[in-house]
Amino acid sequence: MDYDVIVAGAGPAGSITATVVARAGYHVLVLEKDTSCRSPCAGYISSTINIELPEDCIIQSKIRKMRTYFPDLSFHDFQVNGSVVDRPSFDTSLAVRAKESGAQIRWGSSLIDLIRGGVRFRGGKVSGKIIVGADGVFSKVATLIGNDKQRVASCAQYHLRGIELLPETCEIFFDADYAPGGYAWIYPVGEETAKVGLGILDYYVTKSCSHSKKHTKVGLGSAREHLDAFISESSMAERLCGKRTGYIRGALPIGGLRKKLCCGNVLLVGDSAGMADPITGAGINNALLAGEIAGKTIITALENDDVTLLEQYESKIDRLLGIPLARSLEKRNKLDEYCITNELLQRHLPELWVTFREYWS
Ligand SMILES: Cc1cc2nc3c(=O)[nH]c(=O)nc-3n(C[C@H](O)[C@H](O)[C@H](O)COP(=O)(O)OP(=O)(O)OC[C@H]3O[C@@H](n4cnc5c(N)ncnc54)[C@H](O)[C@@H]3O)c2cc1C
Repeated sequence: MDYDVIVAGAGPAGSITATVVARAGYHVLVLEKDTSCRSPCAGYISSTINIELPEDCIIQSKIRKMRTYFPDLSFHDFQVNGSVVDRPSFDTSLAVRAKESGAQIRWGSSLIDLIRGGVRFRGGKVSGKIIVGADGVFSKVATLIGNDKQRVASCAQYHLRGIELLPETCEIFFDADYAPGGYAWIYPVGEETAKVGLGILDYYVTKSCSHSKKHTKVGLGSAREHLDAFISESSMAERLCGKRTGYIRGALPIGGLRKKLCCGNVLLVGDSAGMADPITGAGINNALLAGEIAGKTIITALENDDVTLLEQYESKIDRLLGIPLARSLEKRNKLDEYCITNELLQRHLPELWVTFREYWS
């Protein structure tokens, strides 16, 4: 065997898993599709994270408050404690940590297939006892072990300079016209600079949706088109009239935990396993938490030379994330129903969004 563990993906989930296993002295290879870390993200990380923020990660702002706007722009404030980080620097420092713990990383090496005793990747074949799919929302590994396609939200985000901001505050906007099925966000990253983005349900982008044409400003259109409309036409337009200095787009899973997280010698971690919150879309904390659990479970399996012990991973994840993700999925299904009109959203938002007491009751 070339390696004890092969991890596909050098995002937070993959790098943490690799770090935990490599620190125990096992041979770990990380295969990363891209040539550097560049997962699209807004980078909000709550202080409940299970690791110390790496020293070389760029913290762009501290966040103390989340202001959630109803469609009529009345709002609700909630105290939070978190940071907005520069995501490439965050992921890079975690990958460096994995490397310093002894893992090897092959950049530009997409995993293509699972084969007997290992994997095929762009560039060759390599053998390994245990395979970890940490390859994100469109995970190849998850498909190869028999999971269906996951439901996703489509997101777009600009870096805007020269705009009016509320200090230390993340702003969240619910509006069926501009962000159907999702929300728009303004996350400050410095003086008069913010990440301004939104996420929308995928069926407003690609499939025919009877109500979308009638009720959204854009009708059927990409997340970017919805974001452009939010920035230039919504009641926020005057505030958001700044210089666009960056753009990213991406998708996040909103279907909750996938059916199979483990199959033989293969485990799924992070977005590949559907661990992002179906309502907020936040997935970094859960990816890190699950990566640690995956790593520890893998160590037990390797110590006992018994891959059947990997099955414990599913029940451990279920104990930790099962209830919150199931609750959030239930809320997601309601939001799908209520996002059709602003009247419905206005009335039902408190039971759908995490900062309201009604969400938890
Ligand atoms: C626009 C946007 C904003 C977001 N904002 C936030 C936020 O503010 N806070 C938050 O908590 N979450 C946010 N999320 C969600 C968060 O980005 C993810 O939940 C998180 O990145 C999951 O980590 P991961 O390691 O599982 O996957 P990823 O970070 O996606 O990493 C997967 C890695 O696998 C690689 N890969 C893919 N396929 C292969 C392959 N076949 N072989 C090898 N490598 C492969 C990818 O290149 C990538 O590096 C946001 C998502 C989007 C799209």
